[in-house]
Amino acid sequence: MKDTYRHKGMRRNLVDDLMEKGISDVRILDAFMDLPRHYFLDNAFEEWAYQDKPFPIGKEQTISQPYTVAFQTQLLNIKAGEKVLEIGTGSGYQAGILGLLGANVNTIERHQDLSLKAERLLKSLGVTNVRCFFGDGYQGLPRHAPFDKILLTCGAAEMPEELCLQLKIGGQMVIPLGRGVQTMFRVTRVGDKAFEREQFGDFKFVPFLKGKET
Ligand code: SAH
Repeated sequence: MKDTYRHKGMRRNLVDDLMEKGISDVRILDAFMDLPRHYFLDNAFEEWAYQDKPFPIGKEQTISQPYTVAFQTQLLNIKAGEKVLEIGTGSGYQAGILGLLGANVNTIERHQDLSLKAERLLKSLGVTNVRCFFGDGYQGLPRHAPFDKILLTCGAAEMPEELCLQLKIGGQMVIPLGRGVQTMFRVTRVGDKAFEREQFGDFKFVPFLKGKET
């Protein structure tokens, strides 16, 4: 697949759309301009890749809607060099956006096929600051913890304790929480066992499932 002027034009329209919907962080908008979303989708979706919609990526999973990716990224308030954990690599698109913002990204996926595919794609795009792990996100990544920021891109029925404990003090986790429909929360670890929650409206995610699939 190529990245043509036509794709860039479609990306520009998507970025305008995101701005109208309230995404104001220029670094995030630039990252959306720089990362070709059509590479993260099957060829069949090339024409639709720059619509603000989720699409299937196999294994009954989806690449999140661009607005959702931008909204979660904005809530994370990423600074260059921060150590970030993403749960739910999927296509690798969200991880790529975090990588372009200069974070040191660790991303976990429970479907081995998706994990390997995302890893290959990000490598081919020259994104070197994203590490892909195949495993169960419920465990987090204890060997690489603690993290400045944690992002869940799947909907959790309950607050995952283990992940909360892998945050640095002062660190933040963005997590869609709830069954069926999820409410977006930002959790800040303010002390060893103290957490504060902020709430940001409703979204719909694929579920955070236990275990892994080869
Ligand atoms: N961030 C992705 C969105 C993918 S959808 C993107 O940009 O494309 C959410 C992903 O979370 C799915 O691929 C799903 O398989 C994965 N997932 C669900 N439960 C998980 C778990 N326990 N550990 C790791 N990944 C999980």
